[in-house]
Amino acid sequence: MGIIPAVDAINLKFLLDKLKNKSVSASKQVVNLLFPSVCDNCLKPISENDGVFCDDCWSQLLECAGGDYCRRCGKDVSRYAIIEGRCGHCQSQNLSFDGIARAGKYEKTLKKLLLKFKFGDKTKFRKTFGFLGNSALEGSDFRDDIDYFVPVPLHWRRRLFRGFNQSLLITKKLTHPKAKINNDLVRCRYTMPQVALDSAAARKKNVEGAFAVRIDHEFENKNICLVDDIKTTNATLNECSQTLKQAGALKVYALVIAVADQKDQQW
Ligand SMILES: [Zn+2]
Ligand SMILES: [Zn+2]
Repeated sequence: MGIIPAVDAINLKFLLDKLKNKSVSASKQVVNLLFPSVCDNCLKPISENDGVFCDDCWSQLLECAGGDYCRRCGKDVSRYAIIEGRCGHCQSQNLSFDGIARAGKYEKTLKKLLLKFKFGDKTKFRKTFGFLGNSALEGSDFRDDIDYFVPVPLHWRRRLFRGFNQSLLITKKLTHPKAKINNDLVRCRYTMPQVALDSAAARKKNVEGAFAVRIDHEFENKNICLVDDIKTTNATLNECSQTLKQAGALKVYALVIAVADQKDQQW
């Protein structure tokens, strides 16, 4: 298992440019003159061509979305600091998932946008996160193996309160020649948000036994890619992976938009 840049910065810039809407009708231009659009992040006026963010915010997003990372645990690390597929962070960790792709670090603009997406009801950001997720997957070595994308599930109470599962919204924006979305992994126990807990041990305990598969699942002999917005510790991904493997899954990979807590941490 080696290490490569999460997203090639030049390619990502090209893709982000494509993401912006280039075609604007004459009537829309008049509307824009009367009611100029604003950047969804910093509220600076933008033209319709800029999509949802201004150029500054796009560049800041690019800064958070690049960089080398460990393909085993997702932590920031130079490609030269990998020994037998493990970085210094995960060398002594037991991980139940078989590899990870990530778009960036949970900091600065990417963090702000993810918080607005999840708690500020900016669900339209799913297009941007889907785009970043697709770019990260393109750079992974497991994309071609995936049979199912499985969004990390929310407990029904939290989904009811929030109105959506952010991981499912991102998953729906992923493109793949054969992999389908599978919602047969469920959260059967209500848990505290992982970010509300301050120790890795508490986070591990919090999600222990929290997941199950539906009785008529089709995970047996399949390769799965879990999808989540943020990885804090490895606790949630480990627990989901163990549940899926107990159900017969062959390999379980993970795609996350951002990896948090860059300092050493035992899960
Ligand atoms: Zn902006
Ligand atoms: Zn690692």
